[in-house]
This record gives sequence, structure tokens and C-alpha cells, in this order.
Amino acid sequence: MSESKVPQAAGWWHDFDFGTGISIGLDVVELHAEQTQYQMLQVFEHPHLGRVLALDGIIQTTLADEFIYHEMISHVPLMGFARPPRAVLIVGGGDGGVLREVLTHPHVERAVMVEIDERVVEVAAKYLGLQGDYDDPRAELVIGDAAEWVRRAAGGAPFDVVIVDSTDPVGPGEVLFHEKFLSDLSECMSEDGVMVRQAGMPFVQRDELPSAFRDAVGAFGSAEVYSAPVPTYSCGAMAFVAGLKDGRSLREPRDERSGRHYNPDVHRGAFALPTWWRELTETG
Ligand code: SAM
Repeated sequence: MSESKVPQAAGWWHDFDFGTGISIGLDVVELHAEQTQYQMLQVFEHPHLGRVLALDGIIQTTLADEFIYHEMISHVPLMGFARPPRAVLIVGGGDGGVLREVLTHPHVERAVMVEIDERVVEVAAKYLGLQGDYDDPRAELVIGDAAEWVRRAAGGAPFDVVIVDSTDPVGPGEVLFHEKFLSDLSECMSEDGVMVRQAGMPFVQRDELPSAFRDAVGAFGSAEVYSAPVPTYSCGAMAFVAGLKDGRSLREPRDERSGRHYNPDVHRGAFALPTWWRELTETG
């Protein structure tokens, strides 16, 4: 495994700024750095955030606030679904947090996670340990490009909920933002299936929400937006786009369930969007 040059001095590390000139700075100790076949993989220790996983200089998850993101990207579609979803596909999700949350739903019979980079799975398990149980009989971990896997899976047993927990549209994640991927995804989903993905922070990634919304409408017929406050994804709330094949909204939870962050009121409130977000999606 090649030890790669750390792009910044030990001590203060700043994450990628997406060209905005705004990034988060962390005073960290680096525990691991390697250039995998796909991306630069780093793990840091931070006094308040705990372990931090970064890919290509972008914070993926931290032990201090991962529960917010993983609960909101999982339980909103799983609890907003009209019936108890049985089959779930996770795209990416290498740290294992989404798999962990999905497996807490007793009615889920099948959870397939397709992650391109085995080193993320291995290093995240070693240093963060937040992953779901890969040995759960319902879980299936596939190491491969999700765009390829989805293309081949079309026509097979359909998925009720698809959670796209990928990196941003750079490097290996870029293909997951193509319309072709979404139309292939739709072919793998049940008639009432839903797809959810993160759509960045609208305050600094102004284009991601409108394009994710437009692409979801194009691929699934209808879409809606919700939000979650993930502190280490800097510059405001994170947007999530849900593609809805049967047009039925996710905003009303089917049943009561509470996590460390998620609860029915937070579920409903996540769909209350500020006017400027609505304007972004109306033009989306
Ligand atoms: N929660 C994080 C976020 O919101 O940015 C993402 C978590 S997870 C670490 C993102 C995963 O997507 C990475 O492990 C990366 O390897 C994976 N990934 C990127 N492109 C992929 C592809 N084409 N197929 C499957 N997995 C992919």
C-alpha cells in the first residue's frame, strides 16, 4: 500500500472547498493515508469529532455527527414508504453507516450494498467501526462499480428503496450523477420504489440541488426535497432529493420510530423548506 504525500501540513487540515473559497479547518492527528485504486483515503483523529474519514480531501463522515446523516438518509425513505419496504439497495456507503441503519428495520429482508472501493470498507471498519453487520443474513456486500452493477441488475428482483450514499460528483462518484445511471436504477426498482440521494449544501453548492431534482423527476417521474443539519458538512443544511416512481410523498412517517436524531417530528419538519430552496427546485 503506497503511503501518499499528505497535501497539507500535519496539524491543521482543511477540506476541499469546491471552488467556493470556504472550507472547514480541523486541528487533527492523521492516523492513516493511502492512495487507493480510486481515491485518496485519509483518517484523522479530532478532539471533538473523534475519527474523521476523508476521500479526495472531502469529509465523508465523523464519529461525532455521522448518526445525523445516516439516520436521515435511511429512515426518511424507509419510514415514509407507504408499506414496509422489503428490499433496499445502498449505492456506495463504504463506511457502513447506512447499512447499519437499514438493518435496524425488521421488515427489511434484503439489503445489498455496492461499494467500489474495498479499502474504504476495510479502513473504515478498522478506524471508525460504525458499520452495519456485514454477516447479517439479510446483508450482501458487493465490491464493484454501482453503475455497472445496476446496469446488469435491471429486470431482477426489484428494490423498494435505493439509498445513493456516494461521494460527490468527482472521481469514481461522477458516473452516479449521470441520467443513464438513474434510468438504469429505475429499472431495478419496484413500481412504487423510491430513490434518495444527498444533493449537497445549497448555500455553497447552488447547482447540485436543482440538477439532482431535475434528474430525479426525469428518471422517476416525480421528486421531493428534504433537509438535515450535518455540522461537519459545512455551510448550512444538507439537501436530500427523493425520486418517487409512484409520486407518493415520503413526508408522513408510516409508524413511530426514534433514533439519536431521527423522530417523527424531525421527519415531517425536514420537508419544510425555506423559500430560496423552493425557488431552486422550482427552477430545477
Ligand atoms: N456520507 C458521505 C457523503 O455524504 O459524502 C458518503 C459516504 S461513503 C464514504 C461514499 C462512498 O461512495 C465511498 O466509499 C466511495 O468509494 C463510494 N463510491 C464512489 N463512486 C462509486 C461507484 N461508482 N460505485 C460504488 N461506490 C462508489
